[in-house]
Amino acid sequence: MSVLAKSSMQKAIDLENRYGAHNYHPLPVVLSRGEGVYVWDVDGKQYYDFLSAYSAVNQGHCHPKIIGALTEQAQKLTLTSRAFYNDMLGKYEKFATEFFGFDKMLPMNTGAEAVETALKICRRWAYEVKGIAENQAQIVVCNNNFHGRTTTIVSFSNDEVARKNFGPYTQGFIKVEYDNLIALEAAFRSNPTIAGFLVEPIQGEAGVFVPSEGYLKKAKELCDVYNILFIADEVQTGIARTGRLLATCGNCNCSDKNCSGTPEVKPDILILGKALSGGAYPVSAVFANNSIMDVITPGSHGSTFGGNPIAAAVAIAALEVVRDEKLAENADQLGALFRSELNTYIESSKVVRLVRGKGLLNAIVINDTEESQKAWNICLRLRDHGLLAKPTHGNIIRFAPPLVMNEEQLRDCVSIIIKTLKEFE
Ligand SMILES: *Cc1c(COP(=O)(O)O)cnc(C)c1O
Repeated sequence: MSVLAKSSMQKAIDLENRYGAHNYHPLPVVLSRGEGVYVWDVDGKQYYDFLSAYSAVNQGHCHPKIIGALTEQAQKLTLTSRAFYNDMLGKYEKFATEFFGFDKMLPMNTGAEAVETALKICRRWAYEVKGIAENQAQIVVCNNNFHGRTTTIVSFSNDEVARKNFGPYTQGFIKVEYDNLIALEAAFRSNPTIAGFLVEPIQGEAGVFVPSEGYLKKAKELCDVYNILFIADEVQTGIARTGRLLATCGNCNCSDKNCSGTPEVKPDILILGKALSGGAYPVSAVFANNSIMDVITPGSHGSTFGGNPIAAAVAIAALEVVRDEKLAENADQLGALFRSELNTYIESSKVVRLVRGKGLLNAIVINDTEESQKAWNICLRLRDHGLLAKPTHGNIIRFAPPLVMNEEQLRDCVSIIIKTLKEFE
């Protein structure tokens, strides 16, 4: 091979650049294998994955139990569509509704589809149960939300990059400030046509913003007072990521020792995706009780792949791993350790302003402007030192490793992160 020959890394990047739409700006690293908390690039270099595919790979890469369920089911039956019954979907629905404590679920594939499904359920409920006049229903959302990429969802985003030139936009959404109960109540009080409040328990994409203690609980109480559905988008925060099975910690059967079975907040509609499959397959779902879910009737909603037998087998295995390996407790303990170790460093740091988060969903804020390249450059150096993470918004770096990490690995990661940050002091 000539010394001028392109590396296999560069070849892979060139192919994506030439033949793929440029809808992402990936960190320059080309991965070809993953196992547990590790991924390897095409040259065999090993990295800690500190993004976990935006919290889809909570159970670790290629978990043998999940991959086992996937391959076993793939050899028996992959897709029937919902024109016919299959022998896996009902089992999955029973398992998952009991796991999360709801009467019913509606299976979809991606997070954005599940959010769309929840919005449709909420609107139907507005007209058929709450009694709002036709086409008048409003849904309250938060500033700086991230709920996916469909035309309706970007209609109520305030991220100009995500929205610009995708209009005309879908009507029927009211934006309020996140973590502001006064603004929320003012919106509820002034508008009798509000049917739902869609919220992320922690705003992940916005930069891991954890709301004030009691915000979710009081927001739910306000929803109850005004007969408004509390819709929790836990696509990123759910499935043990924040140290509990759910960040809203509904009335679930999780193994979380802090969970008394009494919900802190029980959403009226719960949206899950990402780690529902452990990253092995696109699986999402919407959960609700009968009084809400029964507005969905044959023909009113659907998806060819939603609830397919592979998805069902994979999701059951993925949830069993979360329960059996006590991933919520592990995320809780390692998250506390992570923040305390970083806080010790931050006391004397000029580069990092703060660390925040819950469980193993954390972020550091770099002491620079949003437009600066510093967070990106830090991520490049982290990569060189064997750890993969990515900036969210300009100067914020999210840290979300797989939840199957052990303490020794976490301490190793903390030392890589601090060593790297010190190079920027
Ligand atoms: C990732 C994400 C979505 C969208 O999920 P996709 O599978 O990418 O469509 C929705 N809501 C939240 C909170 C997310 O983090």
